[in-house]
Amino acid sequence: MNLHLDTQDQAFREEVRAFLRDNLPEDVRRRSRIGYHPANEEDRRWWQRMLFENNWAAAHWPTEYGGTGWTPIQQHIFEYESRMADAPELRWQGLRLLGPVLYTFGTDAQKARYLPAILRGDEQWAQGFSEPGAGSDLASLRATAVLKGDEYVLNGQKTWTTEGQWCEQGFFLVRTADTPKPQAGISMIIVDMKSPGITVRPIPMINGGSSPCEVFMDNVRVPKENIIGEVNRGWDQAKFLLSNERTSSSEIYKAYGDLTRIRQIASQQQKNGRPVIEDSAFLDKLTMAELEVQALEWAVLRVLCDAPSEHPVAANASVLKVRGSELQQRLSELAVEALGVQGLRLYTREESFADHTNDPIWPDYITGATNDLLYLRAYTIFGGAKEVQKNIIAKVAFGL
Ligand SMILES: Cc1cc2nc3c(=O)[nH]c(=O)nc-3n(C[C@H](O)[C@H](O)[C@H](O)COP(=O)(O)OP(=O)(O)OC[C@H]3O[C@@H](n4cnc5c(N)ncnc54)[C@H](O)[C@@H]3O)c2cc1C
Repeated sequence: MNLHLDTQDQAFREEVRAFLRDNLPEDVRRRSRIGYHPANEEDRRWWQRMLFENNWAAAHWPTEYGGTGWTPIQQHIFEYESRMADAPELRWQGLRLLGPVLYTFGTDAQKARYLPAILRGDEQWAQGFSEPGAGSDLASLRATAVLKGDEYVLNGQKTWTTEGQWCEQGFFLVRTADTPKPQAGISMIIVDMKSPGITVRPIPMINGGSSPCEVFMDNVRVPKENIIGEVNRGWDQAKFLLSNERTSSSEIYKAYGDLTRIRQIASQQQKNGRPVIEDSAFLDKLTMAELEVQALEWAVLRVLCDAPSEHPVAANASVLKVRGSELQQRLSELAVEALGVQGLRLYTREESFADHTNDPIWPDYITGATNDLLYLRAYTIFGGAKEVQKNIIAKVAFGL
């Protein structure tokens, strides 16, 4: 693996920087920078469209499906520069999770119907895997899809469905057969979220936002061609998808943005009459976190570049998920620690997104930090809980 930036990569970086500089208005940057969850939906959709119009909608997809054809290093440069320029964070579910499943396992008709709308940002996707009683033990899911004529009829409940209230489409895991091995009777199916019989209820979160939802399905009728790939092969597709989710959820780019923000806060906030950044105990913690972010970046790049590894992909993806999510939590704690007593207040969505530029009482960097810290408690849970990831590492990497 060669991570030296050659002249081509340097030119590419300049091209990305110029695009971001010319196309990202300050109000959009500000709303992204504060780190409030859930993020501004209109900004994200608008930015996806902008990228689409520049043929940059999907950095990591193959060109035949509308991807950029960039090398792993170029993808990394693009994501890093986007974060450092405070570009809106694109939603994962369509781009990173479903898209690769569709172009790998989907039918030609599914690819033609759904991939372009993901690229344009016209349709957002809800991931309907977890249920009450089926999270870590996903194979015990109970939502059913029964074939009646040309349609499947869906019944059951999903939970924690991120931003289900804003999504046009969903990809759901459902039970299509009762088999001795529960994994063998699961299929992945595309569900129009506006179908009769679907009820979506947002779940209030500790951070003051409502991002995940409960989704109830009551005799929802779905065309049979909406099964992705083959019926009863959903478990293979889910494993493929979760491996991609765990690699992405190391969120290395967010970590670099957070480090910049922590330095800004710690330079401006005072402790005992001096900037927090001059406090040696704080600086030690920040420096250690910076080193760990750099180490994780190398680990992510090794996976992106398919560098030789003695361990299977699933184990590496779980390692990145555990390390990345723990590090994210630590960075959010450092941001609030730097804020001191000003970190005690939780700002509302309206207060957070309002323009506080040059406001001496509520500078912009204050309003999202505590919301971010509380939201990030979920990082070691979603995409597979931390304890379960450690089990996977023990089993797959070390045969324990
Ligand atoms: C904010 C948020 C967003 C989410 N978004 C989505 C989404 O969009 N779509 C979706 O499908 N799901 C989503 N999830 C659900 C998420 O994937 C599950 O919460 C996660 O898989 C854990 O499942 P669970 O909540 O049922 O907890 P459980 O599986 O009941 O686990 C509870 C605790 O027991 C531990 N535990 C369980 N089994 C073991 C074991 N074998 N060994 C050791 N410890 C164990 C876990 O680590 C955990 O600490 C989201 C969750 C959150 C919090």
